[in-house]
Amino acid sequence: MARVYVGLGSNLGRRAEAIQEACERMVARGATLVALSPLYETEPWGLVNQPRFINAACAVEVPWPPLETLHILKRIEREMGRAPAARYGPRIIDLDILLFDRIHLVTDRLTIPHPGMLDRATVLLPLADIAADLVHPVTGRNIREHLQALGEITGIAPYPPGLPPQC
Ligand code: ADP
Ligand code: MG
Repeated sequence: MARVYVGLGSNLGRRAEAIQEACERMVARGATLVALSPLYETEPWGLVNQPRFINAACAVEVPWPPLETLHILKRIEREMGRAPAARYGPRIIDLDILLFDRIHLVTDRLTIPHPGMLDRATVLLPLADIAADLVHPVTGRNIREHLQALGEITGIAPYPPGLPPQC
């Protein structure tokens, strides 16, 4: 089994339910859900003129190698109704492999660790909730340090609004 950290995002339809459903679908296919972070509502990143995202991160144990894991996540995205669309554009569900054991992999279809993860509070904030001490296999720094390196964080709030992220 491999320990995989998955970044989840949704900004169309029933966003929080989509995050939950994606986790259930991973489990139905044979993954073990180890942890799911609190949810955050975040301003869109990249293409800004679109609805706000719900973002989360989860830890799963999976019996699959990296490329098969990507295929399974892509299949779940399609099953949940995600249509091909603009990069960074609106989506019912986005499932990204953030970290996969301590693997460092760069191919046309799959890069691990996820190349954008260290720049994005939308990824690092929920990930730090479940894996603050986890060391990034390329930088040698942990998730808490990477989050601190981003400086002041704006445009992200616990979801539902008003609840602290532990709830
Ligand atoms: P986004 O970059 O907005 O998440 P997509 O979800 O459409 O866009 O992903 C585009 C492609 O990125 C995927 O088809 C996949 O082949 C590739 N990719 C490369 N590395 C990863 C990764 N670590 N996790 C998920 N997809 C990845
Ligand atoms: Mg993606």
